[in-house]
Amino acid sequence: TEHRVLNFGAGPAALPESVLKQAQQELLNFQDTGMSIMELSHRSKVFMKVVNDAKRDLIDLMEIPDNYEVIFMQGGATTGFSAVVYNLLAAKKRTDPHGKAPVDYFITGGWSSKAAAEAKRLGANVNVVVDTKKSTGAYTSVPPPEEWTGHLSGSDAAYVYYCDNETVHGVEFPYIPEVDPSVPLVADMSSNFLSRKVDVSKFGVIYGGAQKNVGPAGVTIVIVRKDLLTDLTSYQDTPSGAFVIPQMLDYKTLVDNNSLYNTPPMFSIYIVGLVLQHLKSLGGLEAIEAMNKRKSDKIYGIIAKSALYKCLVQEGSRSRMNIVFRLDSEEREKAFLKGAEERNMVQLNGHRSVGGIRVSLYNAVTEEAVETLAAYMMDFEKDTT
Ligand code: PMP
Repeated sequence: TEHRVLNFGAGPAALPESVLKQAQQELLNFQDTGMSIMELSHRSKVFMKVVNDAKRDLIDLMEIPDNYEVIFMQGGATTGFSAVVYNLLAAKKRTDPHGKAPVDYFITGGWSSKAAAEAKRLGANVNVVVDTKKSTGAYTSVPPPEEWTGHLSGSDAAYVYYCDNETVHGVEFPYIPEVDPSVPLVADMSSNFLSRKVDVSKFGVIYGGAQKNVGPAGVTIVIVRKDLLTDLTSYQDTPSGAFVIPQMLDYKTLVDNNSLYNTPPMFSIYIVGLVLQHLKSLGGLEAIEAMNKRKSDKIYGIIAKSALYKCLVQEGSRSRMNIVFRLDSEEREKAFLKGAEERNMVQLNGHRSVGGIRVSLYNAVTEEAVETLAAYMMDFEKDTT
């Protein structure tokens, strides 16, 4: 029953084995409380410490400056799409009382497309800076500024939004978009959170669901610049009632209550805390970034030399976290997945919307696992072509 697979899933995804073992050990009796973490009061000192330690470790790892807050939210990154719209339009309302300010979106894959659609649905004035499916026919690149088909709205914008790593399409930003310094930059980092160093000071908001690089589903980490936190009373009484933030989506409510406004997903936060400690013990983000580069270079290197594996994502925009590629037929892709499973490697199928193969190489995927996959990819090509 100790049998573990090599898990290349895109999320929920592999977690560090040492973290799972620690959780197992502490499951019945968490820190001498005589109960599990799930049975404790979320108001207890023991759990407060879990939250505060996790926050501190995240701040250390990412070198988050003092003028930012860290919050743990619920509802997944999808709820985060809506929270961004509400909170940042509210912040903008201080200088734009009628709420007509444009919000700029980069659409480089399925997730940023969904985020932009949600902003529209909530009534925001969405300006598309670039939509690569429209401009190039497919989500296979992050174009340089000269190739954006739209434009940034400059200082008028309430915020500029992009998805740093598109999990389904395997497209990752090779740069941080340069925006007017007065406009908050917002990034969905769900699938590359803590995979490399990030200059947090360039952002208004960074957020991501935990279930890829950081922990189990159920918790979304939000890093928000303090000046964007808006007092509910300053905009709640607008005549139209627009942009009134549902209480649980209000960043300020969560900040004011140390993410404990209501009962939080305690087990998920606890595991996130253990993962953060584990990442620190590996030497922090610089070491992790180097490891992740070695892992993705290995697989892209094989694709580059192969006549069978084809990665359609442009070089320079290829994700280090989710490597998507095709074989020459669906039958051969099926055979590839079956052979992988026989060798203990699972969850390599592409997203149901696109098919093909997707290799997710989150932090917890070991270099040994990548070596095993690399050897299999070479063997498979030799044996079947
Ligand atoms: N953004 C990105 C980049 C994602 O990969 C995902 C989920 N795979 C989401 C948003 C949506 O996350 P959730 O399922 O937590 O709502």
